[in-house]
Amino acid sequence: MPVEHAAATIIDGKAFAAALVERVSAAAGRLASSTGVTPGLAVVIVGNDPASQVYVRNKGDTTQRAGMRSDTHRLEESVSQAELLALIATLNVDSGIHGILVQLPLPAHIDAAAVIGAIDPDKDVDGFHVVNAGRLAVGLRGLVPCTPLGCVMLLRSELGDLSGLNAVIVGRSNIVGKPMAQLLLGESCTVTVAHSRTLDLPALCRTADILVAAVGRAEMIRGDWIKPGATVVDVGINRVPSRDPARAAEGKMRLVGDVAFAEAAAVAGRITPVPGGVGPMTIACLLANTYTAACRAAGVTPEALDG
Ligand code: NDP
Repeated sequence: MPVEHAAATIIDGKAFAAALVERVSAAAGRLASSTGVTPGLAVVIVGNDPASQVYVRNKGDTTQRAGMRSDTHRLEESVSQAELLALIATLNVDSGIHGILVQLPLPAHIDAAAVIGAIDPDKDVDGFHVVNAGRLAVGLRGLVPCTPLGCVMLLRSELGDLSGLNAVIVGRSNIVGKPMAQLLLGESCTVTVAHSRTLDLPALCRTADILVAAVGRAEMIRGDWIKPGATVVDVGINRVPSRDPARAAEGKMRLVGDVAFAEAAAVAGRITPVPGGVGPMTIACLLANTYTAACRAAGVTPEALDG
C-alpha cells in the first residue's frame, strides 16, 4: 500500500537569492564607506556561445545592481591562450578587481585548466582553482564554488543544523558534486557521493535525508527513489521540448531538473524547483564571494551573509 504524504514545501531559491543579494549589497556599501573599497568583479568571456552570453549579462547586471564594480572582457573566439593569460595576469594585479571569473566552456584550442590555474586563488570567485579545492578539502579558509555554496545556504536556512543527516549527492564533478560533498562533510552530514557506476542508485537515494541531484539528465530521479520527508536539492538544468505539442513542433523548450518534480514533491518534505531553486543562488553566491574577496583584500572580516 502506498503511504500518503503531504505535498513537499517548495524551497523558493529565487526569493532567498534576492534577499542574499540585498544583504551582500548592504554589506558592500558598509565596506565601501568604512574602507573606500568597492568590490569589483571582472568576467571574461571568449567567443559567442549564446547561453554563455546570457549568463555573463545576468552576472554583470546583478553585480551592478548590488552597487559593485562589474567589468566584462569580451574576447574573440580566435583569441590565443597567451593573450587570455596576459589579460588574467593584468586582472590579478588590478587592485580594483577582487574577483575574476572566466566563463566556461572555453574554445577547444585553450587549456581551461591552465587558464583557471593562472587566476590568483584569492580572486578565484568561482572557487575552481586547485588551491581553493585543496583549502576546502582540508578545511582552510578559501573561496568555495558558487553552486554548492548556494545549496548549503538553502539547506541551512531550511533545516538549521545538518549534523548527523545522511546526505546522498548524485554527481561527482569538480564544480558541483565534489565541493558539495566537502561542504556537507563540513556540516557533519554522513555523505555518500554517487555517480554513473554506482550500483542500485534508487536504493541508495532512498537512504538520503538530503538528496542532491547534479547529474545533467532530465527527470532521472523518480518519486519512488525518495525517502518520505527528505529534502531534495535539484541542481540539474536540462532543456526538453515544450509540453504543448504545437510549441514543441516549433522547437520551443522548457527547463527541467534532474528530479521528476511532481512525483518527488508528493514524497519529499522539501524540494527545490527548476527553474527558481538552485539557479538564482549561483549568481547571488558569486556576489557573496566577490564581497568576501574584497573584504580579505582590505584586511576586514566579512560580515556573515547567511539568512
Ligand atoms: P557533469 O557532467 O560534470 O557531471 C555529471 C555527473 O553525473 C558525473 O559525475 C556523472 O558520473 C554523473 N552521472 C551521469 N549519468 C549518471 C547516471 N545515469 N547515474 C548516476 N550518475 C550519473 O555535470 P555538472 O556537475 O557540471 O552539472 C550537473 C547538472 O547541474 C547539469 O544539469 C548542469 O547544467 C547543472 N548545473 C547547474 C548549475 C546551477 O547554477 N543551477 C551550475 C552548475 C551545473 P561519472 O563521473 O561517473 O561520469
